[in-house]
Amino acid sequence: MKAGMIGLGAMGLGMARNLAKAGYLAAVYNRTSAKTAEFPGLAYPSPEALAAVVDIVLICVSADQDVLDMIDAISTTIRPGTIVVDMSTVSSATAQLAAATLSEKNAEFLDAPVSGGVEGAKNGTLAMMVGGSAETLAKAKSVLEAMAARIVPIGAVGSGQATKAVNQIMCAGINQAVTEALGFAKSQGLDLDKVIDVISGGASGNWFLQHRGVTMTHGSFAPGFKLALHHKDLKICQTMAAHSDYPIPLADQTVLDYDQLMALGFGDEDISALYRLKSN
Ligand code: NAP
Repeated sequence: MKAGMIGLGAMGLGMARNLAKAGYLAAVYNRTSAKTAEFPGLAYPSPEALAAVVDIVLICVSADQDVLDMIDAISTTIRPGTIVVDMSTVSSATAQLAAATLSEKNAEFLDAPVSGGVEGAKNGTLAMMVGGSAETLAKAKSVLEAMAARIVPIGAVGSGQATKAVNQIMCAGINQAVTEALGFAKSQGLDLDKVIDVISGGASGNWFLQHRGVTMTHGSFAPGFKLALHHKDLKICQTMAAHSDYPIPLADQTVLDYDQLMALGFGDEDISALYRLKSN
């Protein structure tokens, strides 16, 4: 199966490298063409050109409109039977729109957002939550396994993105808990390296504390997961929660905190930059 990757950002680059390692990568496209330099001979000048030559198109771009722009572009050249898998984090509604556009061209669509961060993309250990038909997933699975260690079919198109929204709300709560607790530790005059070491091995230990605890408390906020992207995800969650009349106060507070950090110019930092607000 020939795979084409659209979007070589923090996530897409690791994904593309793993696709290449597994022997699937046949084409890449990135809006900023310089980022395709490490894939000589595989770079295509447009999404339209890429879609015309592959069996499966993988997309990992930023936000809803970016995905829809890519879907509109590839739908002009895509061949019937081609599978499109969107791994960006967007709304369920965008996934459903993308599926409808592609079905007019007899192409198949899966929404397959991922969790596991840049490390997961690099190591091919992402967790992938998939919306779409079981038959389409069965055809795409070997390619997806080059990028993800855990692939879970959730339900119809859009259900992958709804599951990702669950993940993003949880991520906001964990970020609030870890940054607030470490800010408190600092206010107590504790040795933060020792605190992180011992707590990581106990009942409150978690991925975020283990991977971001030491960096944030040493003032390093390199992404990781960009704060502005999580902000974008939480706005999606707020819209979905409003539709089902379900309150998400932790996510709401996190949006307000991120608004403040973005206004201060920290939007491109890792989400652990929330510690900046908690440690003064
Ligand atoms: P990123 O580093 O900012 O990369 C974004 C990518 O999308 C770049 O390749 C960018 O192209 C491309 N892009 C954006 N808008 C575009 C448009 N209108 N047309 C064409 N290409 C466009 O972001 P990322 O961290 O890789 O995240 C990508 C997606 O994965 C997002 O939806 C994010 O929420 C999700 N995600 C991220 C993480 C994480 O830890 N980073 C984890 C899980 C999921 P240029 O190079 O030209 O800017």
